[in-house]
Amino acid sequence: MRSTGKPPARRADSPELRSEQSGFLWGNTEFRHETANAFRLILRGFLAPAAVYYSIIFVLHFFYESGHGLLYLTGLSGTTAVAAILVYWLLRKPSVSLVRVELYSLAIYALIFANILVHHLVHLEVTKLVYFALLTMVVAATGVTLRIVIPVATLSLVTAILLAGQQGPETQAQLAFIAFASSFVATGVAGLMRAAINKEIRARMKVEQMHEAARKAAEIDFLTGLPNRRSFFSRLEARFADAGQGSHLALGLIDLNGFKHINDLYGHVFGDQLLKKVGQRLAEASAGTALVARLGGDEFALLIEQPVSDAALRALGNRICAAVGGTVEIEGSEIAVAAAVGFARRLAHTAEPQMLYEYADFALYRSKHVGGGTVVVFTAEDEAQIDAIKNVEHHLCVGKLDAEMHVEYQPQVLVAENRVVGFEALARWQSPTLGTVAPDVFIRAAERCGVMNRITPILLRKALAEARQWPKDMRLSFNLSARDVVSPESIEQICQVVVESGFAGDRIDFEITETSIMTDFERVRDSLARLRDLGTHIALDDFGVGYSNFQHLDELAIDTLKIDRRFVRNLGSPANPGRVVKTMIEMCTNLGLTCIVEGVETAAELSAVTTAGGAIVQGYHFSRPMRADRVPAFLDRAHFDPGELRDIA
Ligand code: C2E
Ligand code: CA
Ligand code: CA
Repeated sequence: MRSTGKPPARRADSPELRSEQSGFLWGNTEFRHETANAFRLILRGFLAPAAVYYSIIFVLHFFYESGHGLLYLTGLSGTTAVAAILVYWLLRKPSVSLVRVELYSLAIYALIFANILVHHLVHLEVTKLVYFALLTMVVAATGVTLRIVIPVATLSLVTAILLAGQQGPETQAQLAFIAFASSFVATGVAGLMRAAINKEIRARMKVEQMHEAARKAAEIDFLTGLPNRRSFFSRLEARFADAGQGSHLALGLIDLNGFKHINDLYGHVFGDQLLKKVGQRLAEASAGTALVARLGGDEFALLIEQPVSDAALRALGNRICAAVGGTVEIEGSEIAVAAAVGFARRLAHTAEPQMLYEYADFALYRSKHVGGGTVVVFTAEDEAQIDAIKNVEHHLCVGKLDAEMHVEYQPQVLVAENRVVGFEALARWQSPTLGTVAPDVFIRAAERCGVMNRITPILLRKALAEARQWPKDMRLSFNLSARDVVSPESIEQICQVVVESGFAGDRIDFEITETSIMTDFERVRDSLARLRDLGTHIALDDFGVGYSNFQHLDELAIDTLKIDRRFVRNLGSPANPGRVVKTMIEMCTNLGLTCIVEGVETAAELSAVTTAGGAIVQGYHFSRPMRADRVPAFLDRAHFDPGELRDIA
């Protein structure tokens, strides 16, 4: 199997090209076939009247001939009439080859020639010698190829001249003139006919070639020259259909880590060049094993149509990671690229191509999650997990979410003043069937199955209603998912909920993640502008985990940075002296941003954060998320020493 889907380039010495270049098309099978078909119809058009004509002649011979003459002439005209009918019938199908059409026409011309010749041998009639000239015309008009036309026409004209010679030189000279005149006319007719027919055939072939080229172009990804999404899936579907249940198929998906970031940072031209390079390397790495296609963006796919073990898939994946990963040099710059690879093999119960794709996609998702060019092959456990996710999705769709969901609140403490300044609202779902489902699980499921636009307003409404009971200086942080911020409709709904709640917009911080910014930068910018119209602030959540593009901070007018808890883990210990947190806090101060440090669990971590510059702190050290009814009691005691706050929630 070829690894690249480039259209098979026609070699300069290919027969098609050679014949086209020289204008000589007879080497082309298709051209020969088209010509045979055109002349088949012309010949049939002639055979029908010829059969009628020779049938009449056959009868007339009984009135005008006698003896041997009658025998020969009726025999010949009868045979010609029957042959004309027979050939007419033999030529009924368009699949007749050129040689056959030539042979049939030759047989008919030979019979007509014999009719005329025998007539003159029985009794020479000078006036009827002109029939030879007529035969020449017929041959010129209906003869398929010149190798038939020229000999037959020459033979009949020469015969006519020879026979005329029996009547003396004068008659012969006259006939020679007629013969020459008719040979010119015949040549003209033959030339015109062939030119017209060839032109028509060439035009038709050109159109067909263009169709073919367009069809091929529709299946090729222009950037990389690899098969595109459409052709990949039609191939996959075809393999699924024609190979039956037991067939061996494996599907691989490859995604470049951080490609969007590279695209944003270096521009699309650069990104395109990178994709081209990656496509090439992929094709080389899997040559002979798999079909490589580009599905779109930085997503590539492999189709393996032979039996492969998991170990073989991993080996192929590692080869791909090694080939694609590393640095790529583009326009003098070296760019680090890493690939995530997920494979799924067709199992006995993999019913549809789409299912195989989903499995590979799941493996890819896991590979991305682990990071570092890990190759993941889809397993039975993954299948169970997918079923569990589908189950969550199902219950999200059918559940009474308004009743089943509630919000818990985690305090945010301004350490320097030892004072609670706000709470982050965190979603909780108690499903009657599934029990408690973790927010990262159900939020992801909700994003996938499109119910986020139902969930966010429910939670926000509840959070705002509860937050109205808090002291007026208390802020509310609320998480928005990528789905919320890329959808103008969702944003309108969110704004409406805020306005209806009567809660002051400038007491709200909407938290968004960098990943959601990367989804669709322009839309996110518009959404945030719309939210800011209500006076709300915007916080960038989990800062430092994603791409941490500082340009975004300015362009999106971010107010607050939330430093992810992974930077806080073991803060103050030799393993984490806190340089990163210190730098981030300083950066916030310099940029005039509020800084919240998340995930502070211990007193040691808290004191390290304080040393690093202090900020607003959130974490289990102060309190786990609590139900709304516990907030007043918490606030009552919040002036206590931070060390004691931990025990309250
Ligand atoms: P997040 O926005 O980063 O929320 C902080 C998460 O860290 C919460 O997990 C919180 O309980 C946990 N956490 C707080 N302090 C500590 C600590 O000291 N140590 C540790 N290990 N964890 C701490 P939770 O409630 O399970 O939420 C998980 C994620 O689910 C959130 O991460 C957020 O991305 C998402 N999420 C939660 N509620 C919502 C919501 O209403 N809407 C949206 N779109 N996403 C939500
Ligand atoms: Ca958050
Ligand atoms: Ca966070």
